[in-house]
This record gives sequence, C-alpha cells and structure tokens, in this order.
Amino acid sequence: MVLQELGGKLTAALQKMQSVTVISEEVLDKMLKDIAAALLEADVNVRVVGQLRKAIKTRAALEEEVAGANRRKLIQRAVVDELVNIVDPGVTPHEVKKGKPNVIMFVGLQGAGKTTTIAKFANYYQRKGFKCCMVCADTFRAGAYDQLKQNATKLRCPFYGSYTEADPVAIAAEGVAQFRKEKYEVIIVDTSGRHRQEAALFEEMQEIRVAIEPDNVVFVLDATQGQAVHEQATSFHEAIDIGSVVVTKLDGHAKGGGALSAVAATGAPILFLGSGEHFDDFEPFVARSFVSRLLG
Ligand code: GDP
Repeated sequence: MVLQELGGKLTAALQKMQSVTVISEEVLDKMLKDIAAALLEADVNVRVVGQLRKAIKTRAALEEEVAGANRRKLIQRAVVDELVNIVDPGVTPHEVKKGKPNVIMFVGLQGAGKTTTIAKFANYYQRKGFKCCMVCADTFRAGAYDQLKQNATKLRCPFYGSYTEADPVAIAAEGVAQFRKEKYEVIIVDTSGRHRQEAALFEEMQEIRVAIEPDNVVFVLDATQGQAVHEQATSFHEAIDIGSVVVTKLDGHAKGGGALSAVAATGAPILFLGSGEHFDDFEPFVARSFVSRLLG
C-alpha cells in the first residue's frame, strides 16, 4: 500500500535527526526536504506541503536556543502536529447516538464505493448494537437497489426501496419516515451517483436533503482518483455542504495522501477509511492515531 511507503519515508526522514548531536539548519532543511518529497510523491497538494514546511520551520526557529535531545523532540512533535493538521480540519464529525433516529445520507460519484461503504457502515454500527436499516434512493443506476438489497440481506439489515417508483425524493422521504416511526437508530440513505459532478445530480441531492433532513451527509471519495479528488471534494462540499467523508480504496495503489489532504481542505472531517471489498475492511479515522501509525 502506498501509504505504508509514505510512512516509511517520513520515518526515515525523522530518523536522520537521531544520528546527529546538533540539529543545525542544514540538518533541519534536509529533513524538511525529504518530508516534502515524500508527501508530494503521495499526491499531497503542493500548497499544503509548502504550508507544512513553513510551519515546522517557524516552530523550530522559536526553539532554536533549546539544546540537543530536547530540540530533537520539539521538532519531532512539530512534524507530527503538522502532519495531523493536514488530515484534520479541526471539526468534530457527527456522532451516531443511541436511542434516537440518526439519518445518514450518503453521496458520491458512481463507482466511488458508496454502496459498499453503506454496507460497511451498517455492519459497523450493528456490531455496536445499533438498530440499523437502509433506504435505496438511487433510481438512476440499474441494479443499485438489488446491490443494496443483497448486502442488506447478508447483514440481516431491513431495507426500503422500489423497482417501480422513479422519484428518488419520494422513496427517500417514505423510507426514512417509515424507519423513523419504527424507531430505527441508524437510518442509512443511499443516493444516486453519476459519472461526474453534474447539475442534475446536485439538484437531486439537495431535494433529498430537504425531504429527509439528515443528521449527517457523508461524501464517499475514491482515493484512487489522484489529484482530481480535490476538485471533486470541493464541488460536492459547495453543492451540499457535506458533513463528513469516507475515503475508500486505500488498499490498492492509491496515493492516499491526495484524498486525505483534499478532504481536510474542504473543512469536512474524515469519518472512516475503507481498505477493501469486505464489510470488515473499514475503520474509524482518528487523525492523530492515523499519523502515529503512519510513522510506525
Ligand atoms: P458505488 O457506485 O459508489 O455505489 O460503488 P460500489 O460500492 O458499487 O463500488 C464500486 C467498486 O469498488 C466495487 O467493485 C467495490 O467492490 C469496490 N470497492 C468499494 N470500496 C472499496 C475499497 O475500499 N477497496 C477496494 N479495493 N475496492 C472497493
């Protein structure tokens, strides 16, 4: 996985500080250059990398009089903090709560992994003891309902959808109303994806949003999309004010750094990471522990 490669390179850059007694400007600059190169290679936006470099330098300059091992520690801490900053917009995502209906609407482009993510999300909360259910408001893609139904059946998760009703807003509204009445706790709503961002898709998303008043709008983003994710995340955010993001397909050759940093740039927090096709290939995202793990 490319993220592991990134972790290895970042760790190697930090380790270079261990072998010198005095961390001179030269040592610091070399380390920052290595860190920047590793991040750029992982597709992190060049401006974001520039900001990180500057922030670490500023913090190191403030601590210039601190000697030896302490200075090393301070610089290491600055590197970790700034890496956390890249993936953490400092916003707490919506938290699913027990004993009330939490309506979670999923949006994203076709193929991003929305339907798979919905199954993973349901599985995750079912295991935590939540009463989960799914609504298929994707009337655009043939087979979307069957795919959702298949996953829901595997998970023994109630689902709502229609082969005949063509209006996704009506399906979403009816399904959510029914499950609210039946006191479900996690009501997951799948919406149509399209091949690209287009006005009709955004309009439909906005109408569904108004009809079901979700507690959270989750944007599903495919990490394999390279630099395109930046524009995609921004336009979804502008169109529908996404609440949080799931980044999928981090198991492949994705240069995940691009997706992770693009997301944070929109101001929406990352909720989960998807790393495979199985329901269990899914984990909550916590910025600081993610960075610690990246650095081994
Ligand atoms: P949707 O069109 O957004 O609903 O996308 P799907 O959920 O149908 O997923 C599209 C393809 O991506 C399917 O073949 C999924 O098995 C695959 N997929 C989804 N999430 C992941 C992931 O995290 N890793 C990998 N490797 N494949 C995934």
